[in-house]
Amino acid sequence: MFSFPQLSFMYFLYVFCIFCFSGVIGGLPPITEESAFLPQLYFNLCFWGLLGGYFPPDSRGYKGASPHYCHKIVKGVEKHHMNQVVGDLHIHTLASGHAYSTVWEIAQVAKKEKMEIIGISDHGPSMPGAPQAMYFEARGHFPREIEGIKMFMGAEVDIVDKEGKLDLPDRVLKKLDYAIVSFHPQVFLGLSLEENTEILLRVLDHPWVEIVAHLGNPKYPIDYQAVVKKAVACGKLIEINNSSFSISRRGSAENCQQIALAMKAEGGKLMVTSDAHYCGEVGNYEDALDMLREIQFPEERIINLSREKLEDFLQQSINRRRQR
Ligand SMILES: [Zn+2]
Ligand SMILES: [Zn+2]
Repeated sequence: MFSFPQLSFMYFLYVFCIFCFSGVIGGLPPITEESAFLPQLYFNLCFWGLLGGYFPPDSRGYKGASPHYCHKIVKGVEKHHMNQVVGDLHIHTLASGHAYSTVWEIAQVAKKEKMEIIGISDHGPSMPGAPQAMYFEARGHFPREIEGIKMFMGAEVDIVDKEGKLDLPDRVLKKLDYAIVSFHPQVFLGLSLEENTEILLRVLDHPWVEIVAHLGNPKYPIDYQAVVKKAVACGKLIEINNSSFSISRRGSAENCQQIALAMKAEGGKLMVTSDAHYCGEVGNYEDALDMLREIQFPEERIINLSREKLEDFLQQSINRRRQR
C-alpha cells in the first residue's frame, strides 16, 4: 500500500509530533546516551528511507531487474520510440553443442518478453559439437507452437570452403523453414577480401538461403557494398546481430553500422537478432536497435518489428521450398 520511503516519512512526522507535544507539556527530555539512541535510529530510518525514494527499484541492480530498463538508465537518454521486436529467427538450443537452453525454455522467455514468433537456428554439422543432418530432418517432432508462441525451424549453416559449399545438403535445407548462412573460424578461416566477397555473392544465389548472419565480423574482410547490393537484388535479408555488440566478434560494431548504412541507401531489409546461446539472451536487441535508431534506419524495413512482415517472410521462404 505504502512504499518504504512513504512509511519512513510518515513515521518521521509521527515522532516529530510526539517530540513537539512532549516539549509543550513538560519540556524536552534530557539527552543522555540511552535516550539519544532512539532519535538516532529514527534519523537513520528516515534518511535512508527518503534517499531510497530517489532511485527506482530497477536501477538498483536488484535481482530480476529488467536489463533493458537498466540499459536505458545507463544511457540516460529518452530514445525515439520504435516498435517492439516480435520475433527472432537466430536462436540456438542445447543441440548446437555450445548453447545452454531447450526449445521449451526459449519459448517461455519469448512469452515473457511478449514476442510471438521464434525461429530455432542450430549450427550445421561442421561446427564442433553441433548436430548431424538427422537432427534437422527429424523436424516432424519439432513443436510448431508452444503456449501461443509460433515456432519455426531453421539452421545456421556454415560456409566450409572457397567454393561456398554449405555444411547441410540441399536435401536437408529444402526441408527447413528458412536458413541463415555465416562464416565461423572453427570451420573456415576465410581468405582475402575479394575471395570472401566472391564466396558470399555465390552463396546468396542459393535458393534456400535467406539470411546472412554477422556479416560485420572483422575476422572476415568483405566488400559490404557488393554483398548488400546483391542481397537487395535477390531479396535476401542481412541480420544485425545484437551479440556482435557485446558478447561475440569483438570489433564488429563499426562494420555493422557500415552495413546498415549501405542497406539504408540501397533500400534493403534487415532483421534484428539475438543469436542467443542461452534463453536469457532472447528479447535483448537494444544495442542493435540503438545503432539503427542512430542512423535513422527506416523502421518499416526492419522486418521483425512487424508480425505481419515476419510471417510473410517465413511463408514465402516455406512456399519456395515446397514448390520445388
Ligand atoms: Zn554458436
Ligand atoms: Zn548463431
